[in-house]
Amino acid sequence: MNFIPAPKKSFLISCVVPVYNEEKNITNFITALKIQLQQLGQSFEIIVVDDGSYDHTSKKVIALLKKDRSIKLLSFSRHFGKENALTAGLERSSGDCVIMIDADFQHPVELISTFVQYWIEGYDIVYGIQKNRPRKSLLKNYLPRLFYFLINKFSKINIMPDAGDFRLLDRKVVNALNSLKEYNRFMKGLYAWVGFKSKGIPCNTPKRRAGKSTFNLSQLTELAITGLTSFSDAPLRILSFSGFILSFIALICAIYIIIKTLILGIDVPGYATIVVIIIFFGGIQLFSIGILGEYIARIFTEVKHRPHYIISKEYGFE
Ligand code: UDP
Ligand code: MG
Repeated sequence: MNFIPAPKKSFLISCVVPVYNEEKNITNFITALKIQLQQLGQSFEIIVVDDGSYDHTSKKVIALLKKDRSIKLLSFSRHFGKENALTAGLERSSGDCVIMIDADFQHPVELISTFVQYWIEGYDIVYGIQKNRPRKSLLKNYLPRLFYFLINKFSKINIMPDAGDFRLLDRKVVNALNSLKEYNRFMKGLYAWVGFKSKGIPCNTPKRRAGKSTFNLSQLTELAITGLTSFSDAPLRILSFSGFILSFIALICAIYIIIKTLILGIDVPGYATIVVIIIFFGGIQLFSIGILGEYIARIFTEVKHRPHYIISKEYGFE
């Protein structure tokens, strides 16, 4: 479905485009995005957030914005990550609705008119449900599924695995997101956390037009741990529960050994068994400390209250 909405009133649409080393895509992408936005017959702004690119991405955007006042650029002082780039774009946007979209053409620009139509109909969040994602490695395919299973099972929020950052947000959703000041940001969790009336629209996910994805397995794992620890305390509860069960089993074993010793006398000691048990429980303890450590590390970064990002230059903002 692709139709142009009949405007009921005039409004401003903000588009937030996070970019990291997208010199091969950015000019074509902004051109394609502008064509779609112009068809809507409303005023718009395109906020490109350069997440510390070390190629010519910024230069190309500056060349475009010199000729076009609707294009704006925020340049980070270093690489802060996509979640922070989106956060910056949302904070600096002034539209009645804000559309977040990737610059690599994996989010089809043609869907924007449909997003806006549903927004006019009264939905506060309209998002793309990405079908036919290009095949990644087995690990990159299955680990996210495990992550979404865990987060949906053990937290109070419900995140759709195929719904990403390609979405339109009403101003009140943007204001709600801007009021969340947590440092460890997992945007997909935050969209779900704030609530509001949402509509998902299935869309195809073409291959990245040029360049390659910067998300590697370790960055995805980091994001998954941020997501789990930000939205669920289940890992800590599971630890307490396992501790309780193991202590209970140990108590039963102790009673059994005491009774056996009283009746049969002291047995020949089974060193191998004892060593295995010590290593097993040592492992469990280290694992538990590790999980505690993850939460403490996140508390540590939260209490420092550092800004989410630092802007070195901005263009096109009044
Ligand atoms: N991006 C970013 N910072 C990052 C990684 C990516 O701003 O640390 C941008 C990137 O330029 C693109 C979008 O976020 O516009 C999606 O990135 P990518 O295509 O690498 O992610 P994937 O499609 O593999 O999830
Ligand atoms: Mg991509």
